[in-house]
Amino acid sequence: MSTIQIPPRIPLDDYSSVIGAGEVAELRTLAKPLAGRSVVMINSTAVGGGVAEILNRLVPLAEELGINIRWEVMTGGEDFFEVTKSFHNALHGAPYHPEQRHFDIFRAYNEKNAKRLPLDAEFMIIHDPQPSGLISYRGGNGNHWVWRCHIDLSHPHPAVWKFLENYVPHYDAAIFSSPEFAKQLPIPQYLFHPAIDPLSEKNRDIPPEFILDVLARYGIDHLRPILTQISRFDRLKDPVGVIRAYRIVRRYFDCQLVLAGGGASDDPEGATVLKEAQNAAEGDPDIKLLELPQWAPLEVNALQRASTIVIQKSLREGFGLTVSEALWKRKPVVASAVGGIPTQIIHKHTGLLAHSVEGTAYQIRFLLSHPDIAGRLGERGHQHVKENFLITQNLKRYLTLFLKLGKSS
Ligand code: UDP
Repeated sequence: MSTIQIPPRIPLDDYSSVIGAGEVAELRTLAKPLAGRSVVMINSTAVGGGVAEILNRLVPLAEELGINIRWEVMTGGEDFFEVTKSFHNALHGAPYHPEQRHFDIFRAYNEKNAKRLPLDAEFMIIHDPQPSGLISYRGGNGNHWVWRCHIDLSHPHPAVWKFLENYVPHYDAAIFSSPEFAKQLPIPQYLFHPAIDPLSEKNRDIPPEFILDVLARYGIDHLRPILTQISRFDRLKDPVGVIRAYRIVRRYFDCQLVLAGGGASDDPEGATVLKEAQNAAEGDPDIKLLELPQWAPLEVNALQRASTIVIQKSLREGFGLTVSEALWKRKPVVASAVGGIPTQIIHKHTGLLAHSVEGTAYQIRFLLSHPDIAGRLGERGHQHVKENFLITQNLKRYLTLFLKLGKSS
C-alpha cells in the first residue's frame, strides 16, 4: 500500500490556489472584528454524516482566523439516538407513531447535556434537531443562539415538527440548506449551502497508485466500469434501490457496483440496512458492499475518483455532500431529485436527475454509452461546486452572520 502524507492542519493561505488570494483576504477582513470572540458549535456525532464532515473543516479555519471557537458533541444513550433517528426519518416524511415516552427521552438527554456543555459562548450554533432542546437552558447573558437545520423540513411529520416548535422559535435565527425547507417562524431564516473542503483528505488530489491500491484492496476491477454510491447504510439512501437499478444496467453493460458506507454514532439503523442490502445483492461478486471505518476519508476519496459514475439515489436528502464531493472530482453523477440535490445537479448541465429505480438505470445507461457527455457534465459540475459549495464560502456566511447578530455586543 502506498502511503500519502496527511496534512494535520491546512493553512488558510493554501486556499488561495483554489479561490484566489482576494477571497482569502476578504475572509481575514471579515474576521478581524470577531477576533477572540467565542463560538460554540454543537451537534450529535463527531464522525459520520455530512454535519461532522463540515464541522471538521470549518472549525479549524475559523480558529485560524482568531475566533475562539469550540465544537462540542452531545452525548446520549441508545434510547436517545433511537428516538432522534425516528424523529429524523419522520421529519423527512416517514410514518411515525408519536409516544409521550419519546418526547420525555428527548427532553431528559437535552437537560443532561445542558449541564455538561458550555452554553455561554457569544454565538451558540446548534446543529439539527437532536440538541435543539438546549435552547431551554440559555442563560440571560444576551448571547446569540442559532439553529442550523441540515435536513429537509418541507414535509415534516406534524407531531414531530409541533414538538420542535417548543424550541425553534426561541432561537434568534435559523439556517436552512434550501429555500424549500424554510418554515413559518417568528425568527429570521438564512440560507446556507453545506460545503466541502477542496483541500481535505476527502477531496484533494491523490496519486493514481493510491487509487489502484484501494481498488485492489477491496477486490474492485479497475478495467471495468465502476458505479458507486458512498453513503451511510440508511433506508433513506436507498441502497436496495441502487442494487435494483444496477441489475437493470447490468443487462446491457459489464459493470460493477460499489456501495460503501461507514456508520455514524447517532445512527442506530446501519447494521439492519446493511443486511437488507446484502440480501438484495444475493452474493453477486460484482456488487461490493463495503463497510468502511467511520473515518476513512482517503478511501472515500479514492473510491469516488475511481468511479465511472457516482450515484446518489436518496429517497430524501438534506443536501447530499457526497454529490458535491463527486462533482468536485469531475464525476458524472446520477442522483434523485430530492431535498438539496437539485441545487447541485442541474439536470443535463451538471449531472442527471432521476425519480425512480428505472429512471436511475436509464440515466446510468445513457452516461455509460455517452462518455463524452458524461465528461462534460463532470467538468461543469466541478465549476458549479467551485462557485457555490466550498467550505470557504460557508465560513464567509458564518462570519457575516456573527457580524450581523453580534453588532450590538
Ligand atoms: N461518508 C464517509 N464515509 C462513509 C459514508 C459517508 O466519509 O462511509 C461521508 C461522505 O463522504 C460525506 C458525508 O459522510 O462527506 C455524508 O454526507 P451527506 O450529506 O451525503 O449525507 P448524511 O450522511 O449527512 O445524510
